[in-house]
Amino acid sequence: MTAQLRSADWRSFALWVIGITVAGLGMVWVLRSESQHQMELAITESGLRWAELAARAVPDLEQVLAGQGLTPAARAQLMHLRRVDDVFRFRLFDRIGLLTLASEDLDLPVAPTYAASQGVGPAAADADRTSIRDRVLAGQSHVGAVQSGKDGAPKVFSAAFVPIQKDGAVLGVAEVHVDQTARMANARAAFKRIGGAVLLLLSIVLGVAAHQLWRRLARQRVVNSRVLYMAHHDVLSGALNRASFNDVLQQAVWRRAQGGPPFALLCIDLDHFKEVNDSLGHAAGDEVLRIATQRLKTCVREGDHIARLGGDEFAVVLMGVANVAAVTPLAQRIVDALVVPYDVADQRLRCSGSVGVAIHGVDATEPDDLLGRADMALYRAKAQGRATFSFYDVAMDRQMQARRQLTHDLREAIGAQQLSLHYQPLFNRDAQTLTGYEALVRWQHPTRGNVPPAEFIALAEETGVIDSIGLWVLRHACAEAARWPAPLTVAVNLSALQFVSNNLVQQVTEALADSGLPPQRLELEITESLLMHNTEQVLSILRALSTLGVSIAMDDFGTGYSSLAYLWRFPFDKVKIDRAFTHNLGHDDKVALIVHSIISLAHSLEIRVNAEGVETPSQLAALQERGCDELQGFLLGRPGPAASLSHQGHNEARASPERRVTPRRPLFGVIPVALPTGHTGPIV
Ligand code: C2E
Ligand code: CA
Ligand code: CA
Repeated sequence: MTAQLRSADWRSFALWVIGITVAGLGMVWVLRSESQHQMELAITESGLRWAELAARAVPDLEQVLAGQGLTPAARAQLMHLRRVDDVFRFRLFDRIGLLTLASEDLDLPVAPTYAASQGVGPAAADADRTSIRDRVLAGQSHVGAVQSGKDGAPKVFSAAFVPIQKDGAVLGVAEVHVDQTARMANARAAFKRIGGAVLLLLSIVLGVAAHQLWRRLARQRVVNSRVLYMAHHDVLSGALNRASFNDVLQQAVWRRAQGGPPFALLCIDLDHFKEVNDSLGHAAGDEVLRIATQRLKTCVREGDHIARLGGDEFAVVLMGVANVAAVTPLAQRIVDALVVPYDVADQRLRCSGSVGVAIHGVDATEPDDLLGRADMALYRAKAQGRATFSFYDVAMDRQMQARRQLTHDLREAIGAQQLSLHYQPLFNRDAQTLTGYEALVRWQHPTRGNVPPAEFIALAEETGVIDSIGLWVLRHACAEAARWPAPLTVAVNLSALQFVSNNLVQQVTEALADSGLPPQRLELEITESLLMHNTEQVLSILRALSTLGVSIAMDDFGTGYSSLAYLWRFPFDKVKIDRAFTHNLGHDDKVALIVHSIISLAHSLEIRVNAEGVETPSQLAALQERGCDELQGFLLGRPGPAASLSHQGHNEARASPERRVTPRRPLFGVIPVALPTGHTGPIV
């Protein structure tokens, strides 16, 4: 943007110009009138000198003035006086102002008789002439206007009307014509010099004013461009911000409608960025964003646009591409560029990007639709395992529609009493003694029937509904378990997102208080993903929960990343070996070895071990043989509604209250263990 002259600038500049012009004109006017005044003084002086000379030199001047004749001596003197200094002509008037002699008539043998109209004073209006005559006759001088000479007269001259006095009495008036050619030329030259100087001065002043204005504009231009940059760009990454991205998109759509180039919209999201931010801090996160932006810039071409829409969300408008074939190499280049490890804060980080593409004119034409569709494609790229790109297609729209509907239904589910809990029994190592149940949520959808938790829990997490579902499960499980005979326990699954809201401890405390369930009979199951974030906040919530007397179990152990390290971070009461291990126990010797290692490792840390998914007697035998503490699976009992919990174990538990689960003393406290950089697979 160029700096614009504001109206205030224009006003002040115009005032400067007007002020300086007025000052200049004023000076010129003063100069002019001063030089005129000086000229008048000089003329008057010439006139008076002449009159004095005449009074002294011309004999019988009184007579001549009165028009009573011209003696030869007087004529001779007067003829001399025709050219004295700059006087070149004169006329004489009598005491009442009537012409008595004109110098040009001195050559005539007899002076002519002059008309009475040829009185003293210039050929001005009568009143003026009379007043001039009266003033001159009263003894004052008067200078007439500048005249241009002809018939041998000088080029420029003025008439001076001066009284001729003797002994203080006015004898008559002399009108002497004073040659002003030289004086005028001098005055003009002086005027030119001074005028030139004044003009020069004014130009300097104006120049300075203009320079100042120009400098101000230049400064303003710099400020404007900075402000403009900040208004249009994301300060952190230097990419366009959301607002200007919307403009760019709208313009691209508009230009396309006018025959401009085709284009595609890419929505890009960094995978696992939150974890980088959480584990290494915001400064490292910011650095990753900056590096990612730089990499995006190297992938696109001149004329393409990169924007950061917020968080780790980017968008790119690729110009001049009209179909999947044209976009594919560019999308692949972006994915490849983002997957290169990031060297941040002396560490080498793994981060990647997922890309969703919508092509203008193919997938949508309106900016909002285009964005929505690129976003859907991004969602699918993420679902496909991240670090990849995906193009929008119509089926995706239907899926999203269905997803939106399901989300809507899920929000209603609690109020509509469509959620319920099933309980799966957990047995002691003997596979006989019931120790408690794991609460598993069920959703009876009015039209879809039974929706498995594997489907709706993820949806609830993505849409934030998990908070209310989690709370509902917690309160119902506690209320139900409080009706069971002690010491039967209830295990409740917690989503990592329930740790974000920060009032989990209060919710657990209230659920226990309201149900009357002793804390020792509640077990909370968390997954490794929660600890991958490793925030102090999560650890302090876990500690607080542990302090309440509630036990904490790590669920699905062995499926996540670096499982071993997590065991050191928090003194878990129990680990639950994932059912995938149990399933492969009979087929794969390596799995048997892993299970054995997990059990001995956990036992050395005084952590109890549960094995999930026990389906066959041989699995059961293998687990029992390896010293697994707790068993769970379809072989021993399927999850069922609360009303169905009337099997033998449940009733036996009533009869043997001495098998209390004693809360375990934390063995290690909390030992922070750094994750091996770049490690991507499970350690166990
Ligand atoms: P999970 O916590 O690992 O729960 C155990 C799952 O394994 C349950 O599936 C259970 O029915 C199933 N299962 C138990 N024994 C066997 C067996 O012998 N063989 C096989 N193949 N499966 C067995 P379900 O109920 O479908 O739950 C799936 C997952 O949904 C759970 O996995 C848990 O992650 C999640 N989930 C369930 N209820 C809740 C809840 O209330 N809150 C949260 N946050 N997640 C829940
Ligand atoms: Ca579980
Ligand atoms: Ca599990």
